[in-house]
Amino acid sequence: KPVVVVCVGMAGSGKTTFMQRINAHLHAEKEPPYVINLDPGVTHTPYASNIDIRDSINYKKVMEEYKLGPNGAIMTSLNLFTTKVDQVLTLLEKRAAPDPEHPARKPIKHILVDTPGQIEVFVWSASGNILLESLASSFPTVIAYVIDTPRSRSTSTFMSNMLYACSILYKMRLPMIVVFNKTDVADASFAKEWMTDWEAFQEALDKEQNNNAFGGQEGEGSGSGYMGSLLNSMSIMLEEFYNHLSVVSVSSLQGTGIDDFFQAVKEKADEFKRDYQPELDRRR
Ligand code: GDP
Ligand code: MG
Repeated sequence: KPVVVVCVGMAGSGKTTFMQRINAHLHAEKEPPYVINLDPGVTHTPYASNIDIRDSINYKKVMEEYKLGPNGAIMTSLNLFTTKVDQVLTLLEKRAAPDPEHPARKPIKHILVDTPGQIEVFVWSASGNILLESLASSFPTVIAYVIDTPRSRSTSTFMSNMLYACSILYKMRLPMIVVFNKTDVADASFAKEWMTDWEAFQEALDKEQNNNAFGGQEGEGSGSGYMGSLLNSMSIMLEEFYNHLSVVSVSSLQGTGIDDFFQAVKEKADEFKRDYQPELDRRR
Protein backbone atom coordinates (compact mmCIF):
# COMPACT_ATOMS: atom_id res chain seq x y z
CA LYS A 1 0.00 0.00 0.00
CA PRO A 2 1.25 3.53 -0.69
CA VAL A 3 2.37 5.77 2.16
CA VAL A 4 0.61 9.10 2.66
CA VAL A 5 2.93 12.00 3.55
CA VAL A 6 1.03 15.01 4.91
CA CYS A 7 3.09 18.21 4.96
CA VAL A 8 2.18 20.63 7.74
CA GLY A 9 4.01 23.63 9.14
CA MET A 10 3.73 27.33 9.83
CA ALA A 11 3.00 29.64 6.89
CA GLY A 12 6.25 30.32 5.09
CA SER A 13 8.12 27.33 6.56
CA GLY A 14 8.48 25.98 3.03
CA LYS A 15 5.82 23.23 2.73
CA THR A 16 5.08 23.91 -0.93
CA THR A 17 8.74 24.16 -1.88
CA PHE A 18 9.39 20.95 0.05
CA MET A 19 6.50 19.25 -1.77
CA GLN A 20 8.00 20.32 -5.07
CA ARG A 21 11.38 18.90 -4.06
CA ILE A 22 10.16 15.49 -2.86
CA ASN A 23 7.86 15.27 -5.89
CA ALA A 24 10.79 15.91 -8.25
CA HIS A 25 12.90 13.39 -6.32
CA LEU A 26 10.30 10.63 -6.75
CA HIS A 27 9.90 11.44 -10.44
CA ALA A 28 13.66 11.12 -10.86
CA GLU A 29 13.48 7.72 -9.15
CA LYS A 30 10.78 6.69 -11.63
CA GLU A 31 8.26 6.37 -8.80
CA PRO A 32 5.89 9.26 -9.54
CA PRO A 33 3.73 9.99 -6.48
CA TYR A 34 0.06 10.86 -6.33
CA VAL A 35 -0.16 14.54 -5.35
CA ILE A 36 -2.97 16.28 -3.50
CA ASN A 37 -3.15 20.01 -2.87
CA LEU A 38 -5.46 21.00 -0.01
CA ASP A 39 -4.53 24.70 0.06
CA PRO A 40 -7.46 26.55 -1.56
CA GLY A 41 -5.74 29.93 -1.22
CA VAL A 42 -2.52 29.21 -3.08
CA THR A 43 -2.27 31.03 -6.40
CA HIS A 44 0.45 28.88 -7.93
CA THR A 45 1.81 25.44 -7.06
CA PRO A 46 5.26 24.59 -8.43
CA TYR A 47 4.20 20.94 -8.93
CA ALA A 48 1.43 19.23 -10.88
CA SER A 49 -1.28 17.79 -8.63
CA ASN A 50 -3.58 14.86 -9.34
CA ILE A 51 -6.20 16.23 -7.00
CA ASP A 52 -6.43 19.94 -6.29
CA ILE A 53 -8.97 21.48 -3.94
CA ARG A 54 -9.00 24.48 -6.30
CA ASP A 55 -10.43 22.39 -9.14
CA SER A 56 -13.72 22.01 -7.32
CA ILE A 57 -13.72 25.00 -4.97
CA ASN A 58 -13.21 28.65 -5.80
CA TYR A 59 -11.74 30.27 -2.71
CA LYS A 60 -12.43 33.84 -3.89
CA LYS A 61 -16.07 32.97 -4.59
CA VAL A 62 -16.42 31.30 -1.20
CA MET A 63 -15.13 34.50 0.39
CA GLU A 64 -17.64 36.67 -1.47
CA GLU A 65 -20.59 34.33 -1.29
CA TYR A 66 -20.34 33.61 2.43
CA LYS A 67 -18.87 37.05 3.30
CA LEU A 68 -15.82 35.54 4.95
CA GLY A 69 -12.29 36.63 5.74
CA PRO A 70 -9.27 34.63 4.58
CA ASN A 71 -9.23 32.06 7.42
CA GLY A 72 -13.00 31.53 7.37
CA ALA A 73 -12.90 31.04 3.62
CA ILE A 74 -10.11 28.47 3.88
CA MET A 75 -12.06 26.58 6.52
CA THR A 76 -15.30 26.70 4.51
CA SER A 77 -13.45 25.55 1.38
CA LEU A 78 -12.01 22.62 3.33
CA ASN A 79 -15.48 21.78 4.66
CA LEU A 80 -16.89 21.78 1.14
CA PHE A 81 -14.06 19.60 -0.09
CA THR A 82 -14.49 17.18 2.80
CA THR A 83 -17.99 16.32 1.60
CA LYS A 84 -16.22 14.63 -1.33
CA VAL A 85 -13.74 12.64 0.72
CA ASP A 86 -15.20 9.26 -0.27
CA GLN A 87 -14.68 10.11 -3.94
CA VAL A 88 -11.09 11.02 -3.18
CA LEU A 89 -10.53 7.72 -1.38
CA THR A 90 -12.06 5.77 -4.26
CA LEU A 91 -9.63 7.47 -6.66
CA LEU A 92 -6.69 6.74 -4.37
CA GLU A 93 -7.61 3.08 -3.86
CA LYS A 94 -7.87 2.69 -7.62
CA ARG A 95 -4.40 4.12 -8.24
CA ALA A 96 -2.94 2.10 -5.39
CA ALA A 97 -3.97 -1.19 -6.96
CA PRO A 98 -2.63 -2.76 -10.18
CA ASP A 99 -4.79 -1.77 -13.14
CA PRO A 100 -5.65 -4.72 -15.42
CA GLU A 101 -6.42 -2.30 -18.25
CA HIS A 102 -3.01 -0.62 -17.96
CA PRO A 103 -0.61 -3.41 -16.95
CA ALA A 104 2.38 -1.14 -17.63
CA ARG A 105 1.21 1.41 -15.07
CA LYS A 106 2.84 0.74 -11.73
CA PRO A 107 0.74 1.16 -8.57
CA ILE A 108 1.79 4.33 -6.75
CA LYS A 109 4.03 4.14 -3.69
CA HIS A 110 3.56 7.63 -2.27
CA ILE A 111 0.68 10.03 -1.83
CA LEU A 112 1.87 13.58 -1.04
CA VAL A 113 -0.49 16.07 0.59
CA ASP A 114 0.10 19.84 0.80
CA THR A 115 -1.97 21.72 3.41
CA PRO A 116 -3.11 25.35 3.84
CA GLY A 117 -0.56 27.91 4.93
CA GLN A 118 -2.62 28.67 8.01
CA ILE A 119 -1.65 25.56 9.94
CA GLU A 120 -4.28 26.01 12.64
CA VAL A 121 -7.11 25.84 10.09
CA PHE A 122 -6.08 22.36 9.04
CA VAL A 123 -4.96 21.05 12.41
CA TRP A 124 -7.87 22.25 14.52
CA SER A 125 -10.83 22.03 12.12
CA ALA A 126 -13.34 19.20 11.94
CA SER A 127 -12.76 18.81 8.20
CA GLY A 128 -8.98 18.63 8.58
CA ASN A 129 -9.60 15.91 11.13
CA ILE A 130 -11.98 14.00 8.87
CA LEU A 131 -9.63 14.21 5.89
CA LEU A 132 -6.70 12.92 7.94
CA GLU A 133 -8.67 10.14 9.58
CA SER A 134 -10.04 9.01 6.23
CA LEU A 135 -6.54 8.85 4.76
CA ALA A 136 -5.13 7.09 7.81
CA SER A 137 -7.92 4.52 7.83
CA SER A 138 -7.01 3.48 4.28
CA PHE A 139 -3.24 3.95 4.09
CA PRO A 140 -0.18 4.18 6.34
CA THR A 141 0.00 7.93 7.01
CA VAL A 142 2.88 10.03 8.35
CA ILE A 143 3.12 13.73 9.19
CA ALA A 144 6.02 15.81 7.90
CA TYR A 145 6.25 18.83 10.19
CA VAL A 146 8.24 21.43 8.27
CA ILE A 147 10.23 23.99 10.29
CA ASP A 148 11.88 27.21 9.15
CA THR A 149 15.33 26.55 10.64
CA PRO A 150 16.80 30.07 10.34
CA ARG A 151 13.76 31.40 12.21
CA SER A 152 14.06 28.86 15.00
CA ARG A 153 17.50 29.80 16.16
CA SER A 154 16.36 31.61 19.27
CA THR A 155 15.47 29.36 22.18
CA SER A 156 11.97 30.84 22.47
CA THR A 157 10.91 30.30 18.84
CA PHE A 158 12.51 26.88 18.93
CA MET A 159 10.58 25.96 22.06
CA SER A 160 7.29 27.33 20.68
CA ASN A 161 7.79 25.35 17.49
CA MET A 162 8.49 22.14 19.40
CA LEU A 163 5.49 22.60 21.68
CA TYR A 164 3.31 23.18 18.63
CA ALA A 165 4.69 20.03 17.01
CA CYS A 166 3.97 18.18 20.24
CA SER A 167 0.36 19.37 20.28
CA ILE A 168 -0.06 18.29 16.64
CA LEU A 169 1.32 14.86 17.44
CA TYR A 170 -1.10 14.58 20.33
CA LYS A 171 -4.03 15.78 18.20
CA MET A 172 -3.34 13.75 15.08
CA ARG A 173 -1.96 10.59 16.67
CA LEU A 174 0.16 9.75 13.65
CA PRO A 175 3.91 9.17 13.33
CA MET A 176 5.80 12.42 12.79
CA ILE A 177 8.96 13.44 10.99
CA VAL A 178 10.37 16.84 11.93
CA VAL A 179 11.86 18.41 8.82
CA PHE A 180 14.33 21.21 9.51
CA ASN A 181 14.10 23.11 6.24
CA LYS A 182 16.18 25.94 4.73
CA THR A 183 19.44 24.49 6.03
CA ASP A 184 21.19 26.24 3.16
CA VAL A 185 20.66 29.39 5.25
CA ALA A 186 21.20 27.98 8.74
CA ASP A 187 22.60 24.61 9.75
CA ALA A 188 20.26 22.55 11.96
CA SER A 189 22.95 21.03 14.16
CA PHE A 190 22.06 23.44 16.99
CA ALA A 191 18.49 22.12 16.94
CA LYS A 192 19.59 18.50 16.93
CA GLU A 193 21.87 19.24 19.86
CA TRP A 194 19.06 20.91 21.81
CA MET A 195 16.84 17.91 21.14
CA THR A 196 19.34 15.37 22.41
CA ASP A 197 21.08 17.32 25.16
CA TRP A 198 18.77 19.27 27.44
CA GLU A 199 21.68 20.90 29.27
CA ALA A 200 22.91 22.39 26.00
CA PHE A 201 19.47 23.95 25.59
CA GLN A 202 19.55 25.35 29.13
CA GLU A 203 22.98 26.82 28.50
CA ALA A 204 21.69 28.53 25.36
CA LEU A 205 18.76 29.86 27.37
CA ASP A 206 20.98 31.26 30.10
CA LYS A 207 23.18 32.91 27.50
CA GLU A 208 20.21 34.49 25.73
CA GLN A 209 18.68 35.73 28.95
CA ASN A 210 21.92 37.38 30.01
CA ASN A 211 22.14 39.11 26.65
CA ASN A 212 18.53 40.20 26.70
CA ALA A 213 17.78 43.60 28.23
CA PHE A 214 14.24 42.48 29.04
CA GLY A 215 15.40 39.21 30.58
CA GLY A 216 15.54 38.33 34.24
CA GLN A 217 17.82 40.05 36.72
CA GLU A 218 21.55 39.67 36.60
CA GLY A 219 22.50 36.08 37.30
CA GLU A 220 18.93 34.86 37.30
CA GLY A 221 19.06 32.38 34.47
CA SER A 222 16.70 29.61 33.55
CA GLY A 223 17.93 27.51 36.44
CA SER A 224 16.06 29.47 39.10
CA GLY A 225 12.59 30.70 39.92
CA TYR A 226 9.39 30.01 38.04
CA MET A 227 11.04 29.75 34.61
CA GLY A 228 13.52 27.29 36.03
CA SER A 229 10.98 24.86 37.37
CA LEU A 230 8.75 25.24 34.31
CA LEU A 231 11.67 24.45 32.03
CA ASN A 232 12.70 21.50 34.13
CA SER A 233 9.29 19.88 33.89
CA MET A 234 9.12 20.67 30.19
CA SER A 235 12.46 19.00 29.65
CA ILE A 236 11.07 15.72 30.94
CA MET A 237 7.97 16.01 28.77
CA LEU A 238 9.92 17.05 25.68
CA GLU A 239 12.48 14.30 26.07
CA GLU A 240 9.66 11.77 25.82
CA PHE A 241 8.28 13.64 22.81
CA TYR A 242 11.66 13.85 21.04
CA ASN A 243 12.09 10.09 21.44
CA HIS A 244 9.04 9.54 19.26
CA LEU A 245 10.25 11.69 16.39
CA SER A 246 12.41 11.24 13.36
CA VAL A 247 14.43 14.36 12.66
CA VAL A 248 15.93 15.28 9.30
CA SER A 249 17.52 18.44 7.95
CA VAL A 250 16.92 19.44 4.37
CA SER A 251 17.18 22.31 1.96
CA SER A 252 14.13 22.27 -0.28
CA LEU A 253 15.85 24.91 -2.37
CA GLN A 254 19.06 22.96 -2.98
CA GLY A 255 17.74 19.42 -2.57
CA THR A 256 19.99 18.24 0.25
CA GLY A 257 18.76 15.72 2.82
CA ILE A 258 15.96 14.27 0.72
CA ASP A 259 17.29 10.69 0.83
CA ASP A 260 17.34 10.93 4.64
CA PHE A 261 13.76 12.11 4.54
CA PHE A 262 12.58 9.12 2.52
CA GLN A 263 14.50 6.78 4.81
CA ALA A 264 12.55 8.33 7.71
CA VAL A 265 9.28 7.92 5.78
CA LYS A 266 10.02 4.22 5.43
CA GLU A 267 10.71 3.84 9.15
CA LYS A 268 7.63 5.83 10.17
CA ALA A 269 5.40 3.87 7.78
CA ASP A 270 6.56 0.66 9.47
CA GLU A 271 5.89 2.26 12.84
CA PHE A 272 2.41 3.19 11.64
CA LYS A 273 1.64 -0.40 10.74
CA ARG A 274 3.12 -1.74 13.96
CA ASP A 275 1.93 0.77 16.59
CA TYR A 276 -0.78 2.99 15.13
CA GLN A 277 -2.80 0.66 12.91
CA PRO A 278 -3.98 -1.60 15.77
CA GLU A 279 -5.06 1.46 17.76
CA LEU A 280 -6.99 2.84 14.75
CA ASP A 281 -8.68 -0.52 14.18
CA ARG A 282 -9.67 -0.61 17.83
CA ARG A 283 -11.20 2.86 17.70
CA ARG A 284 -13.38 2.02 14.71
P1 GDP B 1 4.66 27.44 2.66
O1 GDP B 1 3.85 28.65 3.00
O2 GDP B 1 4.97 26.64 3.89
O3 GDP B 1 4.05 26.60 1.57
O4 GDP B 1 6.10 27.97 2.16
P2 GDP B 1 6.67 28.15 0.66
O5 GDP B 1 7.06 26.83 0.09
O6 GDP B 1 5.74 28.97 -0.13
O7 GDP B 1 8.02 28.93 0.96
C1 GDP B 1 8.06 30.16 1.65
C2 GDP B 1 9.34 30.89 1.29
O8 GDP B 1 10.49 30.17 1.77
C3 GDP B 1 9.57 31.04 -0.22
O9 GDP B 1 10.10 32.31 -0.46
C4 GDP B 1 10.58 29.95 -0.55
O10 GDP B 1 11.36 30.27 -1.67
C5 GDP B 1 11.41 29.90 0.71
N1 GDP B 1 12.04 28.58 0.91
C6 GDP B 1 11.41 27.38 0.96
N2 GDP B 1 12.30 26.39 1.16
C7 GDP B 1 13.53 26.96 1.24
C8 GDP B 1 14.87 26.45 1.44
O11 GDP B 1 15.13 25.25 1.60
N3 GDP B 1 15.88 27.38 1.50
C9 GDP B 1 15.63 28.72 1.36
N4 GDP B 1 16.69 29.53 1.42
N5 GDP B 1 14.40 29.22 1.15
C10 GDP B 1 13.36 28.37 1.10
MG1 MG C 1 2.17 26.53 0.64
